[in-house]
Amino acid sequence: MTKITLHNTMSRTKEVFEPHDDKNVQMYVCGPTVYDRAHLGNARPVIVFDVLFRLLRYVYGPDHVTYVRNITDVEDKINARAAETGRTISDITTQTTQWFFDDMAALGALEPNEVPRATQYIPQMITMIEKLIANGHAYERDGHVLFRVRSYAEYGRLSGRSVDDMIAGARVEVAPYKEDPMDFVLWKPSSGDQPGWPSPWGVGRPGWHIECSAMSYELLGESFDIHGGGYDLTFPHHENEIAQSCCANPSGGFAKYWMHNEMLQVEGKKMSKSLGNFFTVRDLLDQGVPGEVIRFVFLSTHYRKPMDWTLEKSVDAQSRLHQFIEGVARYGDVEEAMKLEPEKAIVDALSDDLNTHAAIECLIKMNDPSHTNKLARNLVFLGFYTAKKLSKLAQEYRDALALLSGIAEKLQAERVKAMESKDFAEVDRMKYVLNLANATIRMTKDETLLSPEMDFDPTKLEALK
Ligand code: AMP
Ligand code: ZN
Repeated sequence: MTKITLHNTMSRTKEVFEPHDDKNVQMYVCGPTVYDRAHLGNARPVIVFDVLFRLLRYVYGPDHVTYVRNITDVEDKINARAAETGRTISDITTQTTQWFFDDMAALGALEPNEVPRATQYIPQMITMIEKLIANGHAYERDGHVLFRVRSYAEYGRLSGRSVDDMIAGARVEVAPYKEDPMDFVLWKPSSGDQPGWPSPWGVGRPGWHIECSAMSYELLGESFDIHGGGYDLTFPHHENEIAQSCCANPSGGFAKYWMHNEMLQVEGKKMSKSLGNFFTVRDLLDQGVPGEVIRFVFLSTHYRKPMDWTLEKSVDAQSRLHQFIEGVARYGDVEEAMKLEPEKAIVDALSDDLNTHAAIECLIKMNDPSHTNKLARNLVFLGFYTAKKLSKLAQEYRDALALLSGIAEKLQAERVKAMESKDFAEVDRMKYVLNLANATIRMTKDETLLSPEMDFDPTKLEALK
């Protein structure tokens, strides 16, 4: 079996991946809070862990991998959005969740096996909180339930900080109902328009961290293999998940491998609304940047390095993918290609802590006439296209070539005429229209060759028919 190594944030080293059960490899990744369109940064963990999911499915078999990614549909940002807009919470979360699914599908991400919504696991959260109170790791004050951080000696291990350092460095909220400023909320009271559920501590709602502990326990059990998310989640979110889960279920180890993607930046700067460089995945898709181009740019940078989104990279990726389609269209056969196994060099690159950059280098090397079926197979393996979409794009390219070869003959004939008459008006008109349609024109002494460029638009060629 392929040996996979993964960088574990917990040990700060690359470790050989040894699942608890190779017939049931389990991965949990923190998903979005649903109150608005996913921004480009939110797409990074989705794409990174989608590649890992594909690798695990290949190595262990598609039926032996369970991937869970939650939807946070109870959170104060959602309540604030409802108050601002006058819309109901469920209206906002239902629509935003669907947007998230649509946008991530456009990036070629497979659906996880389970996509639990926090609001559907409130009883499980209450049960876990009750356990934590019973074993002394949590306490109730004024309708709040808090986790007693000092009761868990290992707190801070993931992020490598001591509790005292964290207090000094973090914006911990001091509140009258806390025994210690580090303690964090498991449950809080709801009033008025705030969403609330009956509980032993009155009508209230869960804190953010408990949802992932309760849902991963319900769906994967007390120990599972991989837990992922963006690096910004290590503290406090993942630190708190570990404390809750390990104290509620001391015999389980919770997650064995912790993986975190680094953050996305835009043109060298942090993406933020105040810098005016904030945009959503949908904004890019609407501007005509295809999902596979976004995926290509993301995978060109290793997931543990900060990644910079630039216009230049997206233009390069678009041209690279166009060359791949051209190669597949001219020399490949997608149906035949799908009978191949993914290329070992690519599987090996991904198995080395998801070296997607090296995997893309392999794709580039495969784009020569004798390897295009390998190229096609691995474009599908890496999630750039489904086999169906790749066939369709290759067919469109061939149709374009066929259309252009008819026009090329005409152009050649016009050119021969023009050489005699010295009147190049018709030749120039044809070239002008071909340029508008984004066709490349190559003329030699006795031949005219036309091929479709990136944004080739056959509708613009009406004038030449
Ligand atoms: P949120 O909805 O803010 O909880 O984020 C959902 C996921 O996106 C989490 O895994 C975050 O770590 C991740 N994320 C948020 N911002 C960025 C960013 N700029 N770059 C990479 N990942 C991010
Ligand atoms: Zn989480």
